[in-house]
Amino acid sequence: MTPSTPEQALTELRAGNHRFVTGAPKHPNQDAGHRAAVAGGQHPFAVIVGCSDSRLAAEIIFDRGLGDLFVVRTAGHTAGPEVLGSVEYAVTVLGTPLVVVLGHDSCGAVQAAREGFRTGSALVGHLGAVVDAVSPSLLRASRQGVDDLDGIIDVHIAQTVETLLARSAVLAERVAAGRCTVVGMSYRLAGGEVRTVAQSPAPLPAPAAPADPALAG
Ligand SMILES: [Zn+2]
Repeated sequence: MTPSTPEQALTELRAGNHRFVTGAPKHPNQDAGHRAAVAGGQHPFAVIVGCSDSRLAAEIIFDRGLGDLFVVRTAGHTAGPEVLGSVEYAVTVLGTPLVVVLGHDSCGAVQAAREGFRTGSALVGHLGAVVDAVSPSLLRASRQGVDDLDGIIDVHIAQTVETLLARSAVLAERVAAGRCTVVGMSYRLAGGEVRTVAQSPAPLPAPAAPADPALAG
């Protein structure tokens, strides 16, 4: 069944990533029957705003198939107007309950931005736009005293979550109404696992474990 709440969608994504990491993928929804079933309409349960890196293929790392994920990818998961419009389409028209910002370790876009920042050298063509879009995250990391690349990448993922919510009133409204959750995740290239870096709204604390009677008194 297609997940219809943010919590169900998150659980489904994490389960798929676990199958992928442990070498037990099910490759769901990739057969001809499912292709025909979704030809008439789509109800993806998650939007993935991911880095374009060729090793970050969303359907593979979350072990999903056709019609499951609405994927928008740019180098360094930068969120310009077309990206925001695509996210808003999925969330409002398709009713998708979860938006995931997906970054990864050793991200070349963040590295390039960092290098440009250090050397002050300008990049040719439109590459400068990517670097410019990553720059606020570099400044934020610097203010927080974070200077290792993977730490900066975590800051950039969290910053992208905030950028989506700050620039898209439509998305922010859905989140405030409890109809959508935005989660920032970092993917590890070698191991294949995703780690949650940021979440809006913040996850509820886990319920306290019942007291163990054996330890009482
Ligand atoms: Zn990247």
